[in-house]
Amino acid sequence: MSKVQIEHLYKRYENADEDTLKDINLAIDNEEFISIIGPSGCGKSTLLRCFAGLEKITRGKILIDGKRFDNIPPQKRRIAMVFQDYALYPHMTVYNNIAFNLKLSKLSKETIDTKVKEAAARLGLSDFLKRKPAQLSGGQRQRVALGRALVRDPKIFLMDEPLSNLDAKLRVSTRQDIIVMHQQLKTVTIYVTHDQAEAMAMSDKILLMRDGVVQQYGSPNQLYDQP
Ligand code: ADP
Ligand code: ADP
Repeated sequence: MSKVQIEHLYKRYENADEDTLKDINLAIDNEEFISIIGPSGCGKSTLLRCFAGLEKITRGKILIDGKRFDNIPPQKRRIAMVFQDYALYPHMTVYNNIAFNLKLSKLSKETIDTKVKEAAARLGLSDFLKRKPAQLSGGQRQRVALGRALVRDPKIFLMDEPLSNLDAKLRVSTRQDIIVMHQQLKTVTIYVTHDQAEAMAMSDKILLMRDGVVQQYGSPNQLYDQP
């Protein structure tokens, strides 16, 4: 459960002569599911990467529950991110892919084992724990990426076009898995997509970005009513 505020956030990449994010201001309530949509190059991934600590912000603040978040080191941020290409470790089994971040923590082997098996059961992966990513379908791989995020017990769950490599049928079922995960984790979820229908179907609020600024922010119905 966390409340997120972004205040006057700017991001300029090194060597760039323009800001990629310009004065982003945003309030996200506890447990909200936010989709970010907007044309390619408008700054959607950059905003996610700033949250994850994969990019430094240039100016402004990100606050979680009123506390400064942007100066917390990335590995302490309690954030999970799922990428478009899944970013699984190809030489590791499904089990070890899901367990990877937990193994870097101080948790006992037993606790890790329980968490991995629970996540796998929830995502229908129990029979595949010994396989390597290459022996899985695209949908199963995406579930492993979700499982790896799930076991981190994140406060903020970030997804960058996680469904774009799946076929239409799988997209619909994985969409449902993501919504269930969001509800069970009770996180703030920030979901980047280029698919407006997907954003409308999944989100509490939609953030429409254009050229590094927030063009609109509101519930799907509010946006839908706009001319
Ligand atoms: P989107 O996710 O909406 O497609 P991005 O956040 O990937 O947009 O990119 C926004 C802008 O920032 C683009 O103009 C892109 O070229 C630029 N950009 C992205 N990453 C870098 C980088 N590492 N260095 C310089 N410019 C970048
Ligand atoms: P950690 O074990 O703390 O997750 P990583 O090397 O896996 O360290 O990642 C460093 C940081 O990169 C993370 O803390 C997180 O903010 C970010 N990150 C983004 N996406 C992922 C992901 N899929 N898995 C792990 N970390 C991610």
